[in-house]
Amino acid sequence: MVQTVYPFGGDAAHSDPRQADKTITGGKGANLAEMASIGLPVPPGFTITTEECVSYLQHGAEFSDSLREAVSEAVGHIEKSVGKTFGDASDPMLVSVRSGARVSMPGMMDTVLNLGLNDETVEGLAKTSGDERFAWDSYRRFIQMYSDVVLGIDHGLFEEALEICKEDNGFYADTELSADDWKTLVGEFKGIVSSELNEPFPQDVFHQLWGAIRAVFDSWDSDRAKVYRRLNDIPGDWGTAVNVQAMVFGNMGDTSATGVAFTRDPATGERAYYGEYLINAQGEDVVAGIRTPQYLTKAAREAAGAKPLSMEEAMPEAYTELAHVFDLLEAHYKDMQDIEFTVERGKLWMLQTRSGKRTAKAALKMAVDMEGEGLITREEAVRRVDPMALDQLLHPTLDPDAERNILGAGLPASPGAAAGKIVLDADTAEQWVERGDKVILVRVETSPEDIHGMHAAQGILTARGGMTSHAAVVARGMGRPCVSGASAVSINLSSRTLKIGRQDLKEGDEITLDGANGQIMLGIVPTVEPELAGDFGTLMVWADALRRMKVRTNAETPADCKMARQFGAEGIGLCRTEHMFFDASRIKAVRQMILAEEDAGRRAALDILLPEQRADFTAIFEVMAGLPCTIRLLDPPLHEFLPTQDAEFEELADVTGLGVDHLKRRADELHEFNPMLGHRGCRLGITFPEIYEMQARAIFEAVCDVKASSGEAPLPEIMIPLVATQKELAILKALVDRVAEEVFTEKGTRLDYLVGTMIELPRAALMADKIAEEGEFFSFGTNDLTQTTLGVSRDDSAKFLAPYVEKGIFARDPFVSLDVEGVGQLVELAAERGRATRPDIKLGICGEHGGDPASIAFCEKVGLDYVSASPYRVPIARLAAAQAALK
Ligand code: PEP
Ligand code: MG
Repeated sequence: MVQTVYPFGGDAAHSDPRQADKTITGGKGANLAEMASIGLPVPPGFTITTEECVSYLQHGAEFSDSLREAVSEAVGHIEKSVGKTFGDASDPMLVSVRSGARVSMPGMMDTVLNLGLNDETVEGLAKTSGDERFAWDSYRRFIQMYSDVVLGIDHGLFEEALEICKEDNGFYADTELSADDWKTLVGEFKGIVSSELNEPFPQDVFHQLWGAIRAVFDSWDSDRAKVYRRLNDIPGDWGTAVNVQAMVFGNMGDTSATGVAFTRDPATGERAYYGEYLINAQGEDVVAGIRTPQYLTKAAREAAGAKPLSMEEAMPEAYTELAHVFDLLEAHYKDMQDIEFTVERGKLWMLQTRSGKRTAKAALKMAVDMEGEGLITREEAVRRVDPMALDQLLHPTLDPDAERNILGAGLPASPGAAAGKIVLDADTAEQWVERGDKVILVRVETSPEDIHGMHAAQGILTARGGMTSHAAVVARGMGRPCVSGASAVSINLSSRTLKIGRQDLKEGDEITLDGANGQIMLGIVPTVEPELAGDFGTLMVWADALRRMKVRTNAETPADCKMARQFGAEGIGLCRTEHMFFDASRIKAVRQMILAEEDAGRRAALDILLPEQRADFTAIFEVMAGLPCTIRLLDPPLHEFLPTQDAEFEELADVTGLGVDHLKRRADELHEFNPMLGHRGCRLGITFPEIYEMQARAIFEAVCDVKASSGEAPLPEIMIPLVATQKELAILKALVDRVAEEVFTEKGTRLDYLVGTMIELPRAALMADKIAEEGEFFSFGTNDLTQTTLGVSRDDSAKFLAPYVEKGIFARDPFVSLDVEGVGQLVELAAERGRATRPDIKLGICGEHGGDPASIAFCEKVGLDYVSASPYRVPIARLAAAQAALK
């Protein structure tokens, strides 16, 4: 029988390897057991496995008999460890019930605290704690939380009752309510439950427990959890574990506290304890951002110029013990830890530890520092940094010299610059972004329900909350700049207006946030390009030494090539020559060429284009001297170039001397129903060889010129697109070779070059052995290969792919991340067959997948020589290629 429940803490064994496996006990459960096993103070409890959650969800929300038995046995473990009994009216044991998936999903799922309280046990708690007020406050919190999470009653009803009670008594803060006030409120709260549900608030403690377990299981499939999973590529079939743990109380007066901490600064990576705590408060008060918490360390408090005492000052003994635990945990896990703790009447308890979420900047700094400290190896440092997170560093920050009209400031919760129009709720954020606006989401505090708006927004500003509030944690994970706890912000939702400092603003006005220092500025402040030295440079050098595959770039302008080289590109993997023709000054000649009915007209247009193309290639080759450059001959679906407006036809009529009607008729003749499968790619070269001749000539002339003027030329790799048959390639290779000969003879020189093809069609993959007889290299055009293998149009897929991903038909959009099991087979087979014919054939990928880490891992597996990505993705690809090589 598979074990369904694992006890931890107390005298639990912690010896089954399944208990340490996060896939079974979830991140929280595995780490609680591990902390207990190394002797840290963990309140005893037990974990219900993720397998039970999956089975519950699959079996129509039914608990298995084995689970029922195991849970009652495990409750006994907690009772024995704390020496109290669940439901005992004189000295009750209370528990918390929390979710804990394989990876942390901050705030996405449900938690219930103080479970086990009822009309009788509350009296027992009052006696044993010696604090009647605390007992009744705990009971009302429990009713409120349980009703919200388990019974589905609107929590606003309870808050309203509390507000009325405060108003009637002239109270300002919750702390002014006495034991009797809470007692009265508990009566009212129970009344709310009865009238909402037509049945009383459950008094049976086991009934309460099963209700909470059910709610946690169900919360795995809540809307917000689903959105979070989609954004973070978390599979829907993992399920969540449930952790039931003896309660410890941070709200037992002024010697009690609760807090969250990081062993290093999660925003900068600095080696300094970092965190927040609240005296006389319960756990959720800190993370929910309801009260703005106090600093953990004296240094942080002083740096912020804050008055309320830090934990280091207010509770020196508990703080010293906590700092010791931080060091033990870092040494044990060899990573920065994100910790939740409670101090109950002076005694420290650890409630959670996990590898902390961090900004890209912090991830780099910590990886490089920890290698220097001897905590981790260089390989591990390279593995630690999420390649996609580098994106945050490659984008602009605020220009330090630009003028800033500062309206106010909050906490620098997630770094980076963000500018846009103010929106006051998540749905509006999403709608405005869909219509093309850039927005800043401004909220009093964010809740997990806001996640879609946070994702849509450029940045997030909240009036309340600390550095560890949901807004901050989620924003850092998403790489969104965030300023939180900005008390200068006051929002009036009914008039859709707000005030920041003294400035009156309304929804739609523009502001800029600096997530690095918390400043809020009026209007749009200009930005500057990022700096690529420091830790970034160090880690990249390490990654480069570990990777096997080369990394090239997809680029067709000298500016993009320069940027890509700065980012570390080792050549061009794809220069799409048709993009050079989009230029307004050239499009006329291109249209003239396309619409010409005879060779003569076409040649006249090509004569105009030749010097232009030669100049393009010369400029690019100067930047890329010494490196391989794959230049693809023309491959446009023609519809992208045809004129559509009357004015365009008239202009063309002027240039060609042909009538507008004549040109329109010709355009009609060229109209295609399926341009993506139409007269494009090498089919253009076969039917209009003079186009490819012109391009080949421009390339060879340019490379000879660059070699003559600078002494160093790149290696041109001339690439024929959309080949399906060996014969197509044979004909076009002969054409390229002939032009090369002509140019070399004219120039009196001879340079190296290659001719190869793209593999973009299933037939090309299948016939790769034959095609390799002609082609000296293959570049996998996985955009078209995905389109043609799946029979899904790349231009139309956006309309229906999202539901496909939601339903799990595709794990991810196959145009973003390679469909490894399907399209991947064709890549693997073509690589094998190509090598069988030509063992030294060069193999690369130039579809969008060349910048996607999961696809890059696949390219490493099938032994491609290089990947090619757009310039901003080059560093991501370098790191991903190193990680793939380490696998
Ligand atoms: C491809 O099809 O993958 C490719 C790189 O070519 P394009 O995107 O230009 O069709
Ligand atoms: Mg293509």
